[in-house]
Amino acid sequence: MMTLEKTKHTHLQKAEEYVRDVFETVKERNAHETEFIQAVKEVFDSLVPVLAKHPKYIEQNILERIVEPERLLSFRVSWVDDHGKVQVNRGYRVQFNSAIGPYKGGLRFHPTVTASVVKFLGFEQIFKNSLTGQPIGGGKGGSDFDPKGKSDGEIMRFTQSFMTELWKHIGPDVDVPAGDIGVGAREIGYMFGQYKKLKGAYEAGVLTGKGVGVGGSLARTEATGYGTVYFMEEMLKSRGLSFDGQTVVVSGSGNVSIYAIEKATELGATVVACSDSDGYIYDKEGINLDTLKKIKEAGNERISEYVKEHPHAEYTEDGSGIWSIPCDVALPCATQNEIGEPSAKLLVANGVKAVGEGANMPSTLEAIDTFLNNDILFGPAKAANAGGVAVSAFEMAQNSSRVPWTFEEVDAKLHETMKNIYQNSVNAAEEYGFANNLVVGANIAGFIKVADAMIAQGVI
Ligand code: NDP
Repeated sequence: MMTLEKTKHTHLQKAEEYVRDVFETVKERNAHETEFIQAVKEVFDSLVPVLAKHPKYIEQNILERIVEPERLLSFRVSWVDDHGKVQVNRGYRVQFNSAIGPYKGGLRFHPTVTASVVKFLGFEQIFKNSLTGQPIGGGKGGSDFDPKGKSDGEIMRFTQSFMTELWKHIGPDVDVPAGDIGVGAREIGYMFGQYKKLKGAYEAGVLTGKGVGVGGSLARTEATGYGTVYFMEEMLKSRGLSFDGQTVVVSGSGNVSIYAIEKATELGATVVACSDSDGYIYDKEGINLDTLKKIKEAGNERISEYVKEHPHAEYTEDGSGIWSIPCDVALPCATQNEIGEPSAKLLVANGVKAVGEGANMPSTLEAIDTFLNNDILFGPAKAANAGGVAVSAFEMAQNSSRVPWTFEEVDAKLHETMKNIYQNSVNAAEEYGFANNLVVGANIAGFIKVADAMIAQGVI
């Protein structure tokens, strides 16, 4: 007769083999999609203990199903520039998983957008959205259109053309896009206008991240940055620490970064650095938010402008050098793979205590290992930056009830959501024998709900 220990061992071996086999197939079938493969690896590695404990997920081939998008749309976006020339970009929407609700996830406009980038973001979004506790599935989209240097008219013509194709595939109960890199309230507003015109109906809940005057939620702009800081506040508390008195470095200077800086500063931290894709600012007195907002939100200028108003601050070209600045808390809030192993080692050597991912997949797998092996508090993106999509779901709720909430109400619900995500991730990590590893905890907590919903809906 098999002992309990032996049975457990066999289940573990089976789970490891299953994960290995499915991962090999993912690599073969998506050979050139490096970002997507990286995102899948991170999730799959976390799931072995769950699959060992609950063989039903193996019997139901859940991993094979969950890595295959329900739908991947790729389309031509033609538009006319200010010189009367026709330009062509490529648009994407990945509708990855609708087991727990309509597809939900942002649109990114950046020259680096490819099918691989959209798929990695859409895949992560499945688990992130599940973690929020809201009924939203996973999706993502965007275009290789570069908004930098484009006039307002060009942005409008591009976004209208983008929506002229996308509107057929979305809807308040089908797929609800939002913003991401290069897409803010202005772009969402133009897309909403075009959707309304084509659809012939005012369906406010078809897009989130709208301006407050067109059905947007208060505190949506702040949500991702604030949420990341709320999440990291809980992590710091677990070691008797707080933001008060800490030195913080935040990469990027866009939507997520600005509001992460705002909340961390409000909680007593000194944020000494931020960046853009050209370089970084180091201001040891603390980044002046009014100046930053004036440069970035109002003017859309380069971060190098900062030193004109604050000559004591230093500007260094090449944003990746930002991780050489000693800090207690690092918040990567710019883009994927911005912290590689060398930067992670540098942060650790300089005494970093906590790293919270405001951006999506900003740390490489090697960088994550470096943090975890050195017992650094590490808040993974799926959990730490889920505040943005959580408030997007609140925006959908306000749109369907036609009752707007106050800033304070939204902020309080956001705070509570981030605390719940933290606690659920901690609990899942502990239950499966990986205490303090929130990468594993967040992946498991996000996965179980989606996998069970997929099983409940049969093989579809
Ligand atoms: P923004 O467009 O507002 O800002 C992006 C910032 O990151 C800019 O400072 C930009 O610099 C910098 N950046 C972008 N791409 C690169 C690159 N390839 N190399 C170096 N710097 C770069 O975007 P968001 O703040 O909305 O998004 C930032 C991150 O947060 C992304 O990973 C996004 O997916 C993630 N996120 C965003 C959410 C949201 O609600 N907005 C929700 C959850 C996650 P520059 O101006 O020079 O390009």
